Amino acid sequence: MTMLAEVKRTQLVTAVHYLAGLLEEGSLVSQYHADTRREIAEVLELLLEKVDGLPDNVPDNLVQAAVVRAIVGAADKLHFDEKEAFLNRQMREVEAFASVHGHTLSRWEPVSGEEGVEYQASCQACGGFVYVSLSGIYNLLLNSCERV
Ligand SMILES: [Zn+2]
Repeated sequence: MTMLAEVKRTQLVTAVHYLAGLLEEGSLVSQYHADTRREIAEVLELLLEKVDGLPDNVPDNLVQAAVVRAIVGAADKLHFDEKEAFLNRQMREVEAFASVHGHTLSRWEPVSGEEGVEYQASCQACGGFVYVSLSGIYNLLLNSCERV
């Protein structure tokens, strides 16, 4: 690359990082839908990474493929975050139930289920069992903890 091209590239990378930051933070673009802002910010960051990994002199269609991969990658990542947040809410709900009913839950163990990672835990006192997945909570804890 010529020196001028190198300078322009560096400036463009700086500008795109800054744009991604503005989109994530949101105050300057509060008219944009929050999920769309975050997703586009993620696409831009992934795009910088993927373009950086491209060899010199690749044909344009491979550069375009990097754009498509960045879009798909951002959607996957945000969808994954949503799933994790949902499972976390379920675990907190079960923990509250367990504590109200006198159970002492073990740590949550990740297990692989039909919809990806799911979590199970059991009561260290009575052995009662709970399981959380994207489809819901499978709760076998009794209404009161009784050692067997
Ligand atoms: Zn118990």
